Formats: sequence, C-alpha cells, structure tokens
Amino acid sequence: MAGNITFTMIKPDAVKNGHIGAILNHITSAGYNIVAMKYTKLSKEKAGEFYAVHKERPFYGELVDFMSSGPIVAAVLSKDNAVEDFRTLIGSTNPAEAAEGTVRKLYATSIGENAVHGSDSDENAQIEANFHFAATEMF
Ligand code: ATP
Ligand code: MG
Repeated sequence: MAGNITFTMIKPDAVKNGHIGAILNHITSAGYNIVAMKYTKLSKEKAGEFYAVHKERPFYGELVDFMSSGPIVAAVLSKDNAVEDFRTLIGSTNPAEAAEGTVRKLYATSIGENAVHGSDSDENAQIEANFHFAATEMF
C-alpha cells in the first residue's frame, strides 16, 4: 500500500461551517477511496503531538488551540500518487494563494483556519494514519 495512501483531517473551521459533505464529495470525485474515517475531537495533547514538527514556530500555540477547538473528520485515503495529488487538490496553505477550485480556495477562511490537512510525504502519511487509526480500523 506504500505510496498509495494519504492522511487528511477536515479541520474544525470547515466542520463548523457545514462543509463536511462538500469536501468529502470533492475528495471522492477526485478518485480517492476511503480506507478509514472517523468523526472525532483532538485533545490539546494530541493536537500538539500531531503538529510537534511546528513546535518552535510562532503560530504553534494558536494551531494547537484551533485544532482542538471542535470536532474534526480524520480519514485515510487511497489512490495512485495519493500524497502529491491530494496536496494539489487542497491547494496552498494560505487560501489567498490557493488555486481556483481547490478545497482551500473554496472552503478555507485564513492561513490558520484552512479547512483541511494533507500529509506531505509517503512516510508521514503512514505515520499519521497509524497515529489516528488502529490496523483493524483501516480497510
Ligand atoms: P497541513 O499540515 O495542516 O496540511 P500545510 O502542510 O499546508 O498544512 P504546514 O506548513 O504544515 O502547512 O502548517 C501546518 C498548519 O499550521 C497549517 O495548515 C496552518 O493551519 C498552520 N499555519 C501554517 N503557517 C501559519 C501561519 N503563518 N500562521 C498561522 N497558522 C499557520
Ligand atoms: Mg503540513
């Protein structure tokens, strides 16, 4: 399965703004299959651990507060070239710079509250999938 999966979260802003269905439609219309999915909420500890790579960045505290502020949808997705194609589908981190028709252009409100997460490498996709799901929850 290596190379064919990515991990995503529909972030608290997009959930609160009612975009779960539209974003899932966007994802499945692009050819992704759902390997695992759950509606859940991250604790501050889990959000901090997930984004630990950004610990030294000035926005880290804000990011952890935001990601633990409300429910999210976490999912593992499969498709050829899953990681790279998903980053194209969601667009730039800053929605103001995201291409037309991308998920962030359509549904994100700011660079901090940017609607979705997408893994940045095959290795991280695997780590992030295992962080959120047990092997028995991935199909
Ligand atoms: P993600 O990892 O969530 O898919 P990304 O890979 O596009 O996003 P990263 O550089 O990994 O971007 O940043 C992680 C998250 O931190 C961003 O999605 C955003 O929510 C937040 N973030 C990044 N840069 C800033 C910033 N300058 N100000 C506020 N928040 C930021
Ligand atoms: Mg990232």
